[in-house]
Amino acid sequence: MIGFPAKLTVDPARSLSYLTGVSKLEIITLPDRKLRTASTPVERIDDETRRFLDDMLETMYEAPSIGLAAIQVGVPRRMVTIDVARREDEDAEPDPIFLINPEILWSSDERAVHEEGCLSIPEYYAEVERPAAVRVRYLDRDGKLQEIEADSVLAVCLQHEIDHLDGTLFIDRLSKLKRDMVIKKFSKQAKIIGKPAL
Ligand SMILES: [Zn+2]
Repeated sequence: MIGFPAKLTVDPARSLSYLTGVSKLEIITLPDRKLRTASTPVERIDDETRRFLDDMLETMYEAPSIGLAAIQVGVPRRMVTIDVARREDEDAEPDPIFLINPEILWSSDERAVHEEGCLSIPEYYAEVERPAAVRVRYLDRDGKLQEIEADSVLAVCLQHEIDHLDGTLFIDRLSKLKRDMVIKKFSKQAKIIGKPAL
């Protein structure tokens, strides 16, 4: 199992320390090769981890997006933030989920098609077919083991973000023709502004 390290250290949160100094992180985009990195499990959950998760959440909200994986801000560790509350209701209260070392335990045979986009592939959207429901095990920001069963948008988001931790992008789930077109487009753009091509 890639998701769970042999040893895990959890330091309790110092009171309120995570409320100070939240900062926005820079999101990397195609053709940055880092997006293809397989992220490694988190072995220590401490105040620094929690601060980073808070920064990720803030970055996700400001984007705005419903999900973010740590590798999207250039950090190859298995951490994800998700909040789908406002996707269904604009006035909904924030309902963030912090996932450390998430792992898909079960996927439904039933499949569903949803339109997906990604902060690392700006302004590109496509319909992707995935299992309609999943059960995911993860550690929360306090290092407590949690399980969640999800369908609909949350199931899509969980699968999309966990894919990122393995270096997989949603365009990898499209036809080769479509994927190559997207990669070509972003590589071309990057060359114009002088970034290395994918
Ligand atoms: Zn994404």
